Amino acid sequence: MEEGSTRRVTCSILSVDHTDMFYRVCAVCERTLSDPTFICHSSNPPSKRLFRILMSVATDTEVLTVVCFDRVARLLFGCSADEFFHFAKLNPFSGVTLNEVMEGEMFTMILSKSMNANAQHIRVASAVPLSSSFQPAIQLLKQCYQTPHAS
Ligand SMILES: [Zn+2]
Repeated sequence: MEEGSTRRVTCSILSVDHTDMFYRVCAVCERTLSDPTFICHSSNPPSKRLFRILMSVATDTEVLTVVCFDRVARLLFGCSADEFFHFAKLNPFSGVTLNEVMEGEMFTMILSKSMNANAQHIRVASAVPLSSSFQPAIQLLKQCYQTPHAS
């Protein structure tokens, strides 16, 4: 695979690293806030979380560790990173359950290898579920935890 190249693979999810799924950005300009006390506007707007998720996926020939950023992760999870964070806080085992509900789920993914030498991981540029009965993770988790009144 050449630098900056993309390729399409069919793969299934092996595991999701649920211990480190988020990063914080400024809610106004979406600049990454590596230091949570950092303020980039004098009006001190709130920060928000975005998804950055490492996952292992298996193609028919190899196992890859890929990183899934917010746009794609929202489709897989069916909610915003902040929403998932608060759900996980109320349901401490949801990270483990997340792996149970996502393991084996098959996707057609477009994988992109960054030209940026600092980018360590192959990025998921898009992920389309193969199953027509695919449900986003948050819906499956809510069924597991039986919170019918939560939307
Ligand atoms: Zn800002």
